[in-house]
Amino acid sequence: MKQVSARLVLKPGRDKSLRHRHPWVFSGAVESVEGDPAIGDTISIVARDGAFLGWAAYCPDSQIRARVWSFDAKDEVGEAFLRGRLAAAIARRRPVTPENDAMRLVHGESDGLPGLVVDRYAGVAAVQLLSAGAERWRALWAPLIAELTGVTAVYERSDVEVRTLEGLAPRTGALLGEVPATVRIHEEGIAYDVDVARGQKTGFYLDQRDNRALAASLAGGRDVLNAFCYTGGFSLAALKGGANHATSLDTSEEALALARANLAINGFDATRAEWLAADVFSQLRKFRDQNRKFGLVVLDPPKFAPTEKHVANAARAYKDINLWAMKLLAPGGHLLTFSCSGAVSPDLFQKIVAGAAADARADLQIRRHLGASLDHSVSIHFPEGEYLKGLWLQA
Ligand code: SAH
Repeated sequence: MKQVSARLVLKPGRDKSLRHRHPWVFSGAVESVEGDPAIGDTISIVARDGAFLGWAAYCPDSQIRARVWSFDAKDEVGEAFLRGRLAAAIARRRPVTPENDAMRLVHGESDGLPGLVVDRYAGVAAVQLLSAGAERWRALWAPLIAELTGVTAVYERSDVEVRTLEGLAPRTGALLGEVPATVRIHEEGIAYDVDVARGQKTGFYLDQRDNRALAASLAGGRDVLNAFCYTGGFSLAALKGGANHATSLDTSEEALALARANLAINGFDATRAEWLAADVFSQLRKFRDQNRKFGLVVLDPPKFAPTEKHVANAARAYKDINLWAMKLLAPGGHLLTFSCSGAVSPDLFQKIVAGAAADARADLQIRRHLGASLDHSVSIHFPEGEYLKGLWLQA
């Protein structure tokens, strides 16, 4: 595609964030749009004095009016450019091995590809096109991903709320090849069957990989409670790490069915695992009434605060589960507690957890601050990419 000649002119003084290489142009910063760009077209962003700031994908109806592909005037956004970005993102990841064949390959803005997410599950890639720019180039992604990674199937999971903010309808389906009902992946040698077409996110919470490895290292000889277990990731990691027993909670029957199956395919002793279809908020209280104690508790809830306006309610929910989890900790027990709400900062999350500890009358040490796995790259210019935060605490 020839670069269209349309340009977006910023209001005076609104060029600072782009000069700091932050890739978003908010609607409030726009002085005018010249030419008649269509949704997803590449336009140039210029300061009020005409100075070039970047090439960006235009989105007329979004609060994020444009997302920058490149800050270099010499670049031409097209197939060769996008292939280069994709190849660079893949090169930053560690190589695929039989023990570790699943990872995030592209993490949107943080990899210089705004709105594009690519997750690798062994021979299958799952993609999300979350921006007008990523959508504009939809025909390119599947063949390029197959060429650069060797996967034989690419499945689209653009069934995400944020697409509607870009004026795009949800979309799912095979883009290339055929995707089996479940794809077998391996993480630290543990096998998991992933439902790429219907599972949560793109099928698996790849962002917790490093923290599951931490759980494995802490679990030896302990009784483990994995609240919000999904398909059993932390539970299986803990059992592989030598846990006595793992109790796992989730409200999703589909997730628990897959979790049980994952236990079986790894040949783990089923008597060491208990799977409960239960609401964590009430089940933690029940365990307290039963005087149950655990040497390792994992709290990995869903996003309680999808946006800023949910933060106050989310804070109450985080405090509640942390408080009750702390009451279940055995002496010397470990708590791995997380929040994947971008709107809850690491600082606020720590304050909430500290409040829970005060109310639980628990003295806990911070052993380490936790985040997403390394494959969820974070650009220094795009702090929004750092959404998952956690604390490793010890009683
Ligand atoms: N730790 C998991 C991912 C957790 S995702 C992993 O490593 O794979 C959050 C999970 O919480 C989802 O599976 C969702 O079904 C479940 N969930 C949401 N609300 C819940 C509640 N109130 N009680 C129990 N589970 C809940």
